[in-house]
Amino acid sequence: MATQSTDVCIAGGGPAGVMLGLLLARAGVDVVVLEKHPDFFRDFRGDTVHPSTLNLIDALGLRARFDAIAHTPLERLDVVLNGIRIHAVDFASLPAPNRSVTLMPQWDLLDLLADAGAQHPSFHLRMDAEVTGVIERDGRVTGIRTRDGDEITARLVVAADGRTSTVRRALGLVPREIPVDTDVLWFRVPRPARPVPDTLAWANRAGLAITIPRPDYLQCALLVPKGSLDALREAGIGAFRERVGRVVPRLADVVGAIGSFDDVKHLNVQIDRLPRWWRPGALCIGDAAHAMSPVFGVGINYAVQDAVAAARVLIPALRPGASSPARTTADAVDAACAAVQRRRAWATATMQRVQRAAHRFLGTGQVARLLDNPPTRTQRAVLRVALPLLRPVLARVVGYGFRPERL
Ligand SMILES: Cc1cc2nc3c(=O)[nH]c(=O)nc-3n(C[C@H](O)[C@H](O)[C@H](O)COP(=O)(O)OP(=O)(O)OC[C@H]3O[C@@H](n4cnc5c(N)ncnc54)[C@H](O)[C@@H]3O)c2cc1C
Repeated sequence: MATQSTDVCIAGGGPAGVMLGLLLARAGVDVVVLEKHPDFFRDFRGDTVHPSTLNLIDALGLRARFDAIAHTPLERLDVVLNGIRIHAVDFASLPAPNRSVTLMPQWDLLDLLADAGAQHPSFHLRMDAEVTGVIERDGRVTGIRTRDGDEITARLVVAADGRTSTVRRALGLVPREIPVDTDVLWFRVPRPARPVPDTLAWANRAGLAITIPRPDYLQCALLVPKGSLDALREAGIGAFRERVGRVVPRLADVVGAIGSFDDVKHLNVQIDRLPRWWRPGALCIGDAAHAMSPVFGVGINYAVQDAVAAARVLIPALRPGASSPARTTADAVDAACAAVQRRRAWATATMQRVQRAAHRFLGTGQVARLLDNPPTRTQRAVLRVALPLLRPVLARVVGYGFRPERL
């Protein structure tokens, strides 16, 4: 058993944990990030790098290294509704320079952030290191334990270990679930021979699907009623392929690439939020504090935004030379944790409310009834008026979320 001491010990090397580790280490705070997997390679957990995160990449001076990694900027997002292409989101309305959502495999982004962290002597990333519990003394969290029996004591423990957070459970914090009736099935297909314009969503009476363009293939998602996976499996992969082909007719030629249900990953859509994000000596951020629905693809963005908000208030409380007696420092750290929740809870709750409303709408199949093909005169008139008003609002909500953070 080894023991180690640090300022901040972060459980979880996802977007929230690695970003917070980098931001703290840049400010000279000693930080240990523990990731249970030996690498960041886990397909598929979302690839979207939003304008707010791109702004952060710029502010961190990482743009040249980011640009050197293969990625796909999407300046607009189209939706195909009953066969009619609608130009729904246009990031051109956002302030320069970042006017696109960029698709980059999450492991590449995490590698970039971890490499940037490694430039700072106070950044310590330990891979293959699973946190199994917390150490407490007199009602205060003072460190963590790992699967290998190591103990790391810290002035602050951060739970950034995702939506099934072990640390959150060890802290006795229980998230409040917000019911949703949809699940998502993720799979990939080759790009069809006849190119398909970049399209985010396809909806018709057969269902709703998402297609995320990657350089060599399309990462796809089919929305299904919660709990329907067993019935789909029973109906067989042929029926599943046929359904995908009905929702996205342009994919009918390539759905054969979905070999079996082993190629289909089930995302149990979950929306939840902790009533209290911290306890003395410990703070939850990212999915550990709030699981987001995939609607608008904001999970990574929100995890990163939590990290920025946390770094901003924690650095003054933790920075070397913050010369206060031990108890006062602990109080300052706890006050900073409370400030993180105050800052981020509204932004999170508001987005979750919007996501829940979207689920209610999508779940009833009403989306397919929005537009006939061909559209009626009224529908055409509504689209002409509503779309130009809606586009910048959607660009802002998708691109930044609510209450975006700055370094
Ligand atoms: C299938 C799928 C598709 C998604 N698509 C999108 C998308 O398109 N856009 C988007 O923005 N979001 C998407 N999301 C959500 C997004 O992945 C999360 O919201 C985001 O990654 C949350 O970041 P996080 O750092 O809080 O947690 P996570 O990314 O979950 O990271 C937690 C990390 O902690 C590690 N860990 C867990 N337990 C322990 C432990 N005990 N000890 C040490 N380490 C531990 C995990 O291995 C993981 O690396 C998707 C999620 C899924 C599952």
